[in-house]
Formats: sequence, C-alpha cells, structure tokens
Amino acid sequence: MSRSAHPAGPRHADVMTEGHYSAPAADLNVLDEKVWARTVTRDGDGALTVGGIAVARLAEEFGTPAYFLDESDFRARCRAWADAFGPDADVFYAGKAFLSRAVVRWLQEEGLNLDVCSGGELTTALDAGMPAERIAFHGNNKTVAEIERAVEAGVGRIVLDSFQEIVRVAHIARSHGVRQRVQIRVTVGVEAHTHEFIATAHEDQKFGIALADGQAAEAVRRTLALDSLELIGIHSHIGSQIFDMAGFEVSARRVVQLLAEVRDEHGVELPEIDLGGGLGIAYTSEDDPREPHDIAKALSDIVTRECESAKLRTPRISVEPGRAIVGPTAFTLYEVGTIKPLEGLRTYVSVDGGMSDNIRTALYDAEYSVALVSRTSEAEPMLVRVVGKHCESGDIVVKDAFLPADLAPGDLIAVPATGAYCRSMASNYNHALRPPVVAVRDGEARVIVRRETEEDLLRLDVG
Ligand SMILES: *Cc1c(COP(=O)(O)O)cnc(C)c1O
Repeated sequence: MSRSAHPAGPRHADVMTEGHYSAPAADLNVLDEKVWARTVTRDGDGALTVGGIAVARLAEEFGTPAYFLDESDFRARCRAWADAFGPDADVFYAGKAFLSRAVVRWLQEEGLNLDVCSGGELTTALDAGMPAERIAFHGNNKTVAEIERAVEAGVGRIVLDSFQEIVRVAHIARSHGVRQRVQIRVTVGVEAHTHEFIATAHEDQKFGIALADGQAAEAVRRTLALDSLELIGIHSHIGSQIFDMAGFEVSARRVVQLLAEVRDEHGVELPEIDLGGGLGIAYTSEDDPREPHDIAKALSDIVTRECESAKLRTPRISVEPGRAIVGPTAFTLYEVGTIKPLEGLRTYVSVDGGMSDNIRTALYDAEYSVALVSRTSEAEPMLVRVVGKHCESGDIVVKDAFLPADLAPGDLIAVPATGAYCRSMASNYNHALRPPVVAVRDGEARVIVRRETEEDLLRLDVG
C-alpha cells in the first residue's frame, strides 16, 4: 500500500484542515459504541456480531448489501423516548425515516404514535394495525384523495400546511360529517443546522405558514371559524440532525407567543404544541447526541417557563423523532470488491452497493464511519474513500475514513447508523435491487423488507 495514502503522509494534513474526517482511532478494531447499535460487539474471532449473530453468517444467509436492524435497540429507544417524555406528552415516530409493517407493530407495542406524510405511509401504518387515532398526517401537498383516506380512517390529527389546505381539509371533513382534529404547522424563523442555528425573521421554504407578518395568526383565525375543524394546537419542525437545543428554545418561545396571541384574540387556549423532530445522532465519533431524558427535560423546561411568563396553562407537548430512534439501530453490510490505491491521494474501496442504498453522502455531504467487520486486523490504517458500483463519480458512501491496509476483496465492511433515511430513500438507479432489511434479535434474524429481485424490476416494466 502506498505510504502517501497513510494518515502520516503529506495528504493527511490537507484533508484534516478541510475537516472531512476524524483521525484514526488508536485501534481500528475497537468499535465506538456511540455509532453502533446496542447489541453490536466483536466475538472471540474478531467478527462483528449483532443480536448474537456473526456478520459472516448474516452475509451468507441474506447476502450483501443488506441493512441489519437491531430490534431490541429499536424497542429500547422507543421506550427511552416514551419514558423520558412521560404521560403528559406524546412521542410520534416519524415514519419517513424508515417504515415497514414490523416497525409499526414495534411502535404499537412500545406505546409510540406515528407520523406519516403520504398515502403509502398511511396505508402501511393502517395495514399493520396502527390505530388511526395514533396517526398524525403531515405534508405540504397532501392530495384530496390522501386527505379523504386520512379523514375516513379517522387519523388523530392532520397537520395543516397552507391556507388552501385549511379549506380543503375542512371541506372534506364536512362532507364526511366529522370534526377533524388538526394542528397548524408554522415556520418560526429558525434554521437549525447540526452545530448551530440561525434565527431569521422570514422563511423561504415550502413547509408551513410563517409566524412573521401575522400569517400564522390568520391561519388560526380561519381554522377556528370552520366547524368541521377542531384546532388542537400548533406545530413546528425546525430541521434535522440538530444537537444544539438553542434552536428549539427559540422555536418554543415563538410558538408559545402565538398561543398567547390566540388566547388574547379568541379567548381560546390551544391545548397542544408539537416541537417536531430533528434530534441528532452519532454518525461518527465526533458527534455527541443528547439522551432523550435530557432533551425531554430541556424542552419541557423551556415550554413551562415560556408559558409561565405568558400566563398560559402549559400545553401538552409532542415530539416527532425519526432518525433518533431508528438511525443508530441499523448498519449496512457490504462486501468489498475492487480496491484502487491512488498514489498520493487515497485508496478507493468499492462495495457492492452505493448511492442506491445510501444517498445521504451524495445528497447532503453526510458523514459516516466504516469498519472492517468480518475479521480484525493488525495492519496499519489507510485513508480510504468507500464508493459504490454506480455510474456516477459522486457515488460515495463514506468520504474519508480509515480501514486496515490489508483490506482485500471479499472482506465484509459495515457502515453504522444507516437505519434512518437510507432504505427509505433507496433507489433503483442502474437497476440496482434495493437491499433487504433484516431484523436481528436474541440470536434470530428475520427479513422484514425483502431484497428486490430482477422479477420485481421487470414486473414494473410493462412496455
Ligand atoms: C422529517 C420530520 C421529522 C423527523 O425528523 P428526524 O430528523 O428524523 O427526527 C419530524 N417531523 C416532521 C414534520 C418532519 O418533516
């Protein structure tokens, strides 16, 4: 292996100053428990195991690439969120992060509610038996047909996203003879990023109704005037992969201000506020997510304080974690194919998947970690870029990471923290077959979403 691809080489300093990756852990064989699902460990032979099953056996039985989801970790995270928020709050799992019938059943068993944002997600939720009153329906452009289905099914809340939708949902509810419970999604003028947030006066985005210029107050006015709608609260969602609670603080303060205005104008104290999702997880050792308990305490302290100063009854809080529940529970297992050392740059390690099973790196410049998992190695670390097999130079899975220099075709490597927004955003680019999701628990592995087949591809192609 080229010396200059080694972290001690000259290129190392350049890449480091760009801040693209962390320096190699002292020992690449040590798994950072922050980024791996809870039951992941290495067995006596050095192979990674999850739920007590070694990856070689999983690869043999289910093939690669594949997502392996630690079911007991998923359930534990659901319980942690539910316990942290307690009986006076509601936790809605954001289904768009990853949804399947098994997931819906786990949510039910662990006492969580569910957010959906499309007819397909609603169908999956109802089909798997989620009680409709525990479902919230989101989206900036719900179709009439979707709204009709949601109203007919009796979903617990529809989150109104525009002036047109207020009228649309009211009309559909009236024609079904129901009074639909709704929230209004407001944009609070907070742009939250991973490590900072920006408070702005105006919002330039497709979601929600701006608090600025009295738009949200007008939406409340119109909603309250419609008999077929029961306005239960105000909703705000400020972003994704957020670590800094300050953005939530500004958001909560502005939402509570609106509640106070609504009380002053209409004599109504809206009973709920929803602060959305967006809580960050550890993709690499650099990330330090907070525990649900800390988040719950911080949010409820903020809301309580703001309500006290506005002399409002404290509303019931709801939150909508997606990534924070499912993200850390799964990893993607790949088989190493071509290895291409580029003198003076880095080594390209190609795997049997890529942007079709994880688009986040290409789409958001997301950072991931990677480890050799079929064995341990005492070889020195080499700087690698893990890439897929797609016809696209942006087909990158892990931009900069270290793997042992004796890596060879046929080794299994795994990318942790791929439970959220990987399978759910997977595509058939290059007619790739979307990988299966395999739930692993207590020594048993079971496919919950099967691998696509070439027949699946041909079945859609009816020309
Ligand atoms: C995407 C989304 C969530 C979940 O976001 P995470 O980052 O996965 O926690 C919650 N609520 C709404 C309205 C969303 O759009």
